[in-house]
Amino acid sequence: MKKIDVLGIPVVDTTKSEFIDHIVDEMQITEKPICIVTANPEIIMLAKENTNYEKCLLESNYVVADGIGVVIGSKMLGTPLKERIPGYELVHDFLRTAKAGHNRFFFYGGKPGIAKQAAEKANLLYPHIKIVGVADGYGGDGNGDEVAKKAAALNPDFIFVATGAPKQEEWIAEHRNQFSNAVMMGVGGSLDVLSGNVDRAPEIFIKLNLEWFHRLITQPTRFKRMLKIPQFLFEVRKSKK
Ligand code: UDP
Repeated sequence: MKKIDVLGIPVVDTTKSEFIDHIVDEMQITEKPICIVTANPEIIMLAKENTNYEKCLLESNYVVADGIGVVIGSKMLGTPLKERIPGYELVHDFLRTAKAGHNRFFFYGGKPGIAKQAAEKANLLYPHIKIVGVADGYGGDGNGDEVAKKAAALNPDFIFVATGAPKQEEWIAEHRNQFSNAVMMGVGGSLDVLSGNVDRAPEIFIKLNLEWFHRLITQPTRFKRMLKIPQFLFEVRKSKK
């Protein structure tokens, strides 16, 4: 799969539907975990500041452009990515396309009760899937090592890790070897949205690539974090030869 370098991070250049088909096919043949990072500018900037975290990204199998800022950055570099691939949409797409024999899901992250609520919602929306286990992201179901042990024993095909960056990518990198061939994906606040506790931006914001703006006005405490977006674009501009 073609990858485009954005500040030293190889981001897959594909459409969302091609990406899903590719992962579903790969799951049939691989015996290793498939680790997916859903990157936004904040994640890429974090990698620039922390080499251990950057290593987690470089050792993952696929980094997709979850944030529109990453797509804009790729355009500024003269190597435009085909499209944005939002992690939240991948969550639904994997739930929808999971086939018998590859339909065991584990949800990890969010405040106590969120992963369970998200699992109930997922079961309603996609009755063909099996949620084999859930764990909250604040230690209520054990620390990271304990959750990994518990999850691995349940033999999931998909693990959605919603403990936020950098924790989720670090957890995946540290524990991936305990899983045989699961898709392991960091999904940020997706379980909050799936569970119905946080609203995703209205369609018009998504269409206009203003999902980040909706998050900013609905969760103004994110302001400081979002300053990473202009910083990221500045770094991209600087890196352009
Ligand atoms: N979270 C968690 N454990 C922690 C810190 C955060 O489970 O120690 C969860 C938090 O409850 C939220 C998610 O991680 O559901 C992070 O969401 P955020 O909005 O920061 O991620 P984004 O969608 O921006 O990647």
